[in-house]
Amino acid sequence: MSGVLGFDRRHVWHPYTSMVDPLPAYEAVSASGVRIRLADGRELIDGMSSWWCAIHGYNHPALNAALDAQLGDMAHVMFGGLTHRPATDLAETLLELTPPTLQHVFFCDSGSVAVEVAIKMALQYWGAQGQPARRRLATIRGGYHGDTFAAMSVCDPVTGMHERFQGVLPAHLFADRPRTRPGEPLHEADRAGMERILAEHGGEVAAVILEPIVQGAGGMWFYSPDYLRHVRALCDRFGTLLILDEIATGFGRTGRMFACEHAGIEPDILCLGKALTGGYMSLAATLASTRVAHGISSDGGVLMHGPTFMANPLACAVSKRSIELLRAGPWEQRVAAIERQLGEELGAYARHPAVADVRVMGAIGVVQTRRPVPVAELQRVFVEAGVWIRPFNDLIYLMPPFVIDADDLRRLTRAIGAGLDALAG
Ligand SMILES: *Cc1c(COP(=O)(O)O)cnc(C)c1O
Repeated sequence: MSGVLGFDRRHVWHPYTSMVDPLPAYEAVSASGVRIRLADGRELIDGMSSWWCAIHGYNHPALNAALDAQLGDMAHVMFGGLTHRPATDLAETLLELTPPTLQHVFFCDSGSVAVEVAIKMALQYWGAQGQPARRRLATIRGGYHGDTFAAMSVCDPVTGMHERFQGVLPAHLFADRPRTRPGEPLHEADRAGMERILAEHGGEVAAVILEPIVQGAGGMWFYSPDYLRHVRALCDRFGTLLILDEIATGFGRTGRMFACEHAGIEPDILCLGKALTGGYMSLAATLASTRVAHGISSDGGVLMHGPTFMANPLACAVSKRSIELLRAGPWEQRVAAIERQLGEELGAYARHPAVADVRVMGAIGVVQTRRPVPVAELQRVFVEAGVWIRPFNDLIYLMPPFVIDADDLRRLTRAIGAGLDALAG
């Protein structure tokens, strides 16, 4: 085992792994376009966009140049009492792009923190409105909103391991995961679930928080835009706020710039992250309506948050460039082409004996297996096939950079076929 891998295994934690018996890791030395190069010289076609982020691929000359230029001015200054053009330019771009209700931007350092800030905004808003009883959140099962405590408290209680943190996590309200798939008429059970929660607890609910249309790490599930419209209407009827977490879905991944556009609705608070910087560095943002932003301070209070690296100029500069690049290119056609190809090539595995379900939306393709997969073993099969695909539980899924071509995408879908055969055999 090389120096890096040996040291890593003994001393460096990886996501959701044991330090006693870690899953194997592979050493990456560089990445370019849709390829990740390993220390042993192998090149892997990237099927993950580094968890939804690298939409333009790696080592992109325009993004590198944006960072270089900003580096020459300043890498960072504190945001308390100082401001800068990278932050205001990016905020302006985000306001242009997102639903018009959203008018105020809070920059923070990661998606989980963006969710913390969104929750804080909702609680502070109701406090300032003289309704301090509105302190709970309502959401749906199967969600994922991050790993910090408030974010974790609205993740799926089972996959989010709530029982390990009992007594520490606030108990929020969970409706069942919507069963209605896109294109289906809304199931009665889906209609009734959230309605019952708000009818019973409306006066205690500060906000409903959801991932719109696509639930990511909580199970890679897609649900009908009708459900989202229904929840928006319920929020209006019961006078509560709607927080949409578009950290995974934002910036084109589902075929629309933001997934809420599938339903034609607007949130009161919106969380962005992941692809925000094109996968270059950690940056997130929480956007709010004027009702919320001004409401928070209607009792003279201030929003109680202010991370050290708030609005980091390097991250803001690369983010602005990444969004320009996206808007200047034919991303809608690219995502539509990926969707078609994933539909055909993954759809062909729907009858495979190891497969329970195949679903595709935008540049996301999911193969759900009948049993949880042996991650390390399957990972080895994929690396040997020259692709980077990271399954979890019973999910083998692709969300490639939008710039991937049809041949590379076919290598990814074929590798999944080979992986399924290995599971069945
Ligand atoms: C990844 C993710 C988060 C958390 O973001 P981090 O940057 O990992 O903290 C929150 N919500 C959703 C929907 C995500 O996919």
